[in-house]
Amino acid sequence: MQNTSVEPSRDCPLCPRLHDFIALWRQREPGWFNAPVPTFLPPEGEDAVRFLIVGLAPGLRGANRTGRPFTGDYAGDLLYETLIRFGLARGRFEARPDDSLELISTAITNAVRCVPPENKPVGAEINTCRTFLVPTLKRFKNLEAVLTLGTIAHQSTVRALGGRVAAHPFRHGGRQEIGDVTVFSSYHCSRYNTNTGRLTTEMFVSVFSEVAEFLRK
Ligand code: SF4
Repeated sequence: MQNTSVEPSRDCPLCPRLHDFIALWRQREPGWFNAPVPTFLPPEGEDAVRFLIVGLAPGLRGANRTGRPFTGDYAGDLLYETLIRFGLARGRFEARPDDSLELISTAITNAVRCVPPENKPVGAEINTCRTFLVPTLKRFKNLEAVLTLGTIAHQSTVRALGGRVAAHPFRHGGRQEIGDVTVFSSYHCSRYNTNTGRLTTEMFVSVFSEVAEFLRK
């Protein structure tokens, strides 16, 4: 029987390779979070969410260590700075879950909730963890926009929304309607992508300009 909970249990066994990888890091670093990372919500709760960001998966020393998406490694610096700039977050991002950062009308989740070795989930893991992405997309009754970060997050989100990937391909700066939701897409704000120039701050800001304009309507 399929699990239809919104959040996986701390010991979710559905992907044996990821379950074993987390077990290894629980031994190595018992002070780390080392579990599926829950969706980050605004303090007002899920009914306040109009915009959902879908990343790939927790980073080993980022969200897997701290327990909050995009917190503790480089990817969060650009993301949270940009969210604050567009009024989608407030407070101060200090790369730890007890900083003063709060989301505004926005939630953040990952297509794969457990840290994968070398940041690379396999197809079966992406498909299995959609068990949680589908109800995550459904839990926000006021959801209007989704931003997918990278091809894997985009394709899994399209499938989770009931769309066909061939009809809704990933493109940086893309904008597509799937059901009641408008899906924006961007290259992932990883250190690799920004260091190589694949994603510049200007390119990322430009995507958020479009999202913010859409949400203002
Ligand atoms: S990736 Fe998702 S489905 Fe797989 S073990 Fe982790 S929480 Fe469970």
